[in-house]
Amino acid sequence: MRTAEIKRRFLAHFEANGHTVVPSAPLPAVDDPNLLFVNAGMVQFVPFFLGQRTPPYQRATSVQKCIRTPDIEEVGKTSRHGTFFQMNGNFSFGDYFKEGAIGLAWDLATKSVADGGLGLDAERIWATVYLDDDEAIDIWHKTVGLPMDRIVRRGKKDNYWSMGIPGPCGPCSELYFDRGPAYGREGGPDVDEDRYLEFWNLVFMQYERGAGTDKENYPILGELPAKNIDTGMGLERIASLLQGVDNLYEIDEVNPILARAAEMTGKRYGQAVSHVASESHPDDVRLRVVADHVRTALMVIGDGVIPSNEGRGYVLRRILRRAIRSVRLLGWREGPALPELLPVARDCMSPSYPEVAAEYDRISSYAYGEEERFLQTLQAGTTILDLAVTETKAKGGAVLAGDKAFQLHDTYGFPIDLTLEIAAEQGLRVDEAGFRRLMADQKAAAKADAQARKTGHADLSAYRAALEEGGPVEFTGYREVARESRVRSLLGATVAGEGDEISLVLDATPFYAESGGQQADMGIITLGSGRVEVIDVQSPLPGLIVHRAKVLDGEVRVGDAAFAEIDVNRRRAVSRAHTATHLIHQTMRNFLGESATQAGSLNAPGRLRFDFNTPGAVPQSVLTDVEQQVNEVLLRDLLVHAFITSQEEARKLGAMALFGEKYGDEVRVVEVGDYARELCGGTHVERSSQLGLVKILSESSVGAGVRRVEALVGLDAFGHLAREHVLVSRLAELFRVPGDQVADRVEQTVAQLRDAERELEKLRVQLVLAGAGGLADAARDIRGVAFVGTEAPEGTSANEVRTLVQEIRGRIPSDRPAVVAVTSRSGGKASLVVGVNGAAKSRGLSAGDLVKGALSGRGGGSADLAQGGGVPATEAPALLTAVERAL
Ligand code: ATP
Ligand code: MG
Repeated sequence: MRTAEIKRRFLAHFEANGHTVVPSAPLPAVDDPNLLFVNAGMVQFVPFFLGQRTPPYQRATSVQKCIRTPDIEEVGKTSRHGTFFQMNGNFSFGDYFKEGAIGLAWDLATKSVADGGLGLDAERIWATVYLDDDEAIDIWHKTVGLPMDRIVRRGKKDNYWSMGIPGPCGPCSELYFDRGPAYGREGGPDVDEDRYLEFWNLVFMQYERGAGTDKENYPILGELPAKNIDTGMGLERIASLLQGVDNLYEIDEVNPILARAAEMTGKRYGQAVSHVASESHPDDVRLRVVADHVRTALMVIGDGVIPSNEGRGYVLRRILRRAIRSVRLLGWREGPALPELLPVARDCMSPSYPEVAAEYDRISSYAYGEEERFLQTLQAGTTILDLAVTETKAKGGAVLAGDKAFQLHDTYGFPIDLTLEIAAEQGLRVDEAGFRRLMADQKAAAKADAQARKTGHADLSAYRAALEEGGPVEFTGYREVARESRVRSLLGATVAGEGDEISLVLDATPFYAESGGQQADMGIITLGSGRVEVIDVQSPLPGLIVHRAKVLDGEVRVGDAAFAEIDVNRRRAVSRAHTATHLIHQTMRNFLGESATQAGSLNAPGRLRFDFNTPGAVPQSVLTDVEQQVNEVLLRDLLVHAFITSQEEARKLGAMALFGEKYGDEVRVVEVGDYARELCGGTHVERSSQLGLVKILSESSVGAGVRRVEALVGLDAFGHLAREHVLVSRLAELFRVPGDQVADRVEQTVAQLRDAERELEKLRVQLVLAGAGGLADAARDIRGVAFVGTEAPEGTSANEVRTLVQEIRGRIPSDRPAVVAVTSRSGGKASLVVGVNGAAKSRGLSAGDLVKGALSGRGGGSADLAQGGGVPATEAPALLTAVERAL
């Protein structure tokens, strides 16, 4: 059964049982500061489980894209761990519980294929339950009919779930499939997790836990008011079972990549006879790593992540580099490998995720660019390593120092396994222990750093408390600019006085918290007995709005009545910038194509910055066209309208959905007439004409494949143009031409100036040369040599001096030995040019020697003509004397 079909059956099964089908959230976990990537189906439902938001349905089902970075190292070595994988899940929010969850799972797993099920052999399914969860055991045994010898009790580590923080928790029950003796030892999941493959985990959220010391030690505070179900079935794992292959790298969505990698490198996959993953041939493991990582990179870039040195970008970089590295270990030497592999991954995944085909240009340009950079790194690293190897050998050593290997790894990103390999080829060992010691030191330092950053997380728990205390704060700023409210909490204080900086939460607020690139509102909050000035507004957790404010006078207490008023002018100017950003975004796409998607933005009062993905620089002509079209849209006086709708409806409407924004089931769409439509939580003007004017200032690069435009809006745009106009008027006045002729006139004037300079130069040379005849006539006889020694007029160029020397020399009869020396001064330094004629050379004189003699070695040239300099200008006469004496 194909993977897509399993997915379809899964969703159909749960939909038929009253579940709402919810689309996958994007891979980057944007709402959870502790998580880089979504790693389970439940992540997008966390606010429901925590009771922060009321779910719009009681039952949901999804196929969630997941990344588990801790599993990277397992890839290929086990049969069941992918970096990217898809988790089928069904969720109950206070609706059905254990019996429902177990029944629904059992039903789908064992129902025959003909009846729409997955058709697993019921005799080969095992279940694990938490130690004392007799309720689950009863359901498995009595209701489902599973024999007791296939029900296993397991401890907290395996079968108890919590989010690692106070909140819901509860026992789990997992479904395993026995793949038979060929896959490992008998005895159930406790004995062999590769033979007994876990394919489905059912979590029963039943209790509330308190703070604890680690993952397994925390107090259970009591039962939850509403009991929830969260399940996860690994799509790839079940596919490997149903497709009769040994592991999830051999299923239909992955195997073609693996096969292509094998073909490219001339390897035969499946060299080990055994089905046991841990007994695989190293090349087989590498082929699996390549297939898994290439697919993962495709999906991660597809969801908007770009290779970089931190956070998600770093995970992506590591994955790409591991893939490239593994292909090379398999023997590939023909240049970039990704252009061979990534298209295969695209073709595997696009039936389920059409966007990876639609956006392939963007995705591949990042992937290929990263490979290029990495290949350069490898090359540089190899050179440095070769050098280290040669040095070590020259000293008679047999071991490459650990710090060398570490430096290669740390500074050049050069992988240790490659260092080991190249060193071995050269007959050297590597001080691996030394290397690991340095790695451990670095890790410890990083850990200490992370610990330090946790203090930030401590704040997060204060925020969490503030949120739990009073529920989500209502943002009323879409429709009003001032509001009566009440001080709900002062984070970390109960009262504050004049001059204090405070963090203030109101019951409801018109203040917009910085997000989606839009800057926060500022303004004043007036209280019963005081006033505060709001300087920043942030939303550290979804639903919580925190005002950073300075107490201007009086006192602030929790419970105070408050009148919150935003700075309306600032808000309007920011809103104008935000609407302008949408218009520029849409217009860029009109001119550059759909792949010109937003990569970041800033909306400040009257100005904006918009980053977007596009391969090269945007030509000036396109920028002009974009600007023109945007301004035309302003004149059309389009209505700007925001509305809430379902995510699916928004997609149907063709709303531009930008990575990094939060997708709930309900989304807010902002449309500017029929021109632009985008998911957006920001504030906007009411009609496009309120923008007045948009002026694009510049376009530049901000990284591989990302460009930035900056623009001004409204009065700021007008002010800019007005200033430019004043400048042009002033120039027109100075040049005495109408404004539209200034450019021509400047061009003309510059050309004239250049001509005049050339003319001047010519005249000066003529002038200098005119003196040549007289100087030649005045040559003095020094020991039978005609000698001319003179200084050129101030400002004579080096070229002119040389010409002068040759000119004088040419005017002395050639049968008479002659030496000409001319000094010149410029910039406080003196220089010397000496020319010698043929007759003088026959007497053993050389221009080069004369210059070197006069300048103590500084200078050079031929025997005919030489020059030098660099001595203080005052020494010019002495240089001439020195040449004369040497004759
Ligand atoms: P394991 O112990 O095998 O790593 P897990 O206990 O980490 O699995 P859960 O956190 O319970 O797995 O995730 C739910 C389901 O998601 C699992 O039953 C499995 O089918 C699937 N799954 C988990 N991790 C991966 C992975 N790295 N690749 C593919 N599927 C996975
Ligand atoms: Mg795991």
